[in-house]
Amino acid sequence: MTQPLAQTLHASIDIGANLTHARFAKDLAQVISRAQQAHISHIVVTGTSIAESTAAIALCQQYPHYLYCTAGIHPHDASQFDAHNYEQLKQLASQPCVRAIGETGLDFNRNFSSPQQQIHAFEQQIALAIELQPPLFLHERDAHEKQLDILKYYRPQLVNAVIHCFTGDKQQCFNYLDLDLHIGVTGWICDEQRGQALRECVAAIPPHRLMIETDAPYLSPKTQPKPKLARKGRNEPCTLNYVAEAVARCSQREIDEVIQQTAATSRLFFGLGLQAKAEAKPLRT
Ligand SMILES: [Zn+2]
Repeated sequence: MTQPLAQTLHASIDIGANLTHARFAKDLAQVISRAQQAHISHIVVTGTSIAESTAAIALCQQYPHYLYCTAGIHPHDASQFDAHNYEQLKQLASQPCVRAIGETGLDFNRNFSSPQQQIHAFEQQIALAIELQPPLFLHERDAHEKQLDILKYYRPQLVNAVIHCFTGDKQQCFNYLDLDLHIGVTGWICDEQRGQALRECVAAIPPHRLMIETDAPYLSPKTQPKPKLARKGRNEPCTLNYVAEAVARCSQREIDEVIQQTAATSRLFFGLGLQAKAEAKPLRT
């Protein structure tokens, strides 16, 4: 039997799940239904390329007001950022379900695209966020200094930005908080070894700047008892409350308080539950 987490009064929000990933292609309806049973009230699907962002929008249209998404080009794919992408992303971002630009940022860990290509794609997406004024959904791995420099420069023109899947240390966390950015925490925090630095600094993140996410199908929470809630060796949004539980334990708070506060922060950040203008129009029949 899977051990249920303590029953909570509040529903949680997963601000980052890669539901257009091929590993969800066959049974997405069950994945969504398990998330609903696990008391997840909204999921923000991550857009990582033009194709994946387009697919994310199509998914949102299947689950209106439950799924929302971002539209962007991941740093790994930055080498493919071409002259048309700005306009294409602009069009995608005009869809009411799109609530942030990204995932964008810098990843010098694997350098699947060169640093120059990543910086170019990042600055283009920042320019789009400045033009349209949605928040930014950011990725950063082993590129803290450069990412911080770029964000410092543009921050006054940006509404809001979240460093999703933050895995850095206390100083890096404070550097981002000093720019008044939000921080997204994944199952990384459930890993006592790899997540040590994060476990030590999560208590310092103010509740109105902290959000939680699964980054499914990646980063299954290690604290999940067996048999795992999520199936097929992948992570799913239904494991989100293991992240909330670890955040609560590391910051000596109640899990219910963490869920309530991260959900409230996420609703404000992404405007969830708020109808965008276009959604207020009568439905086409
Ligand atoms: Zn990422």
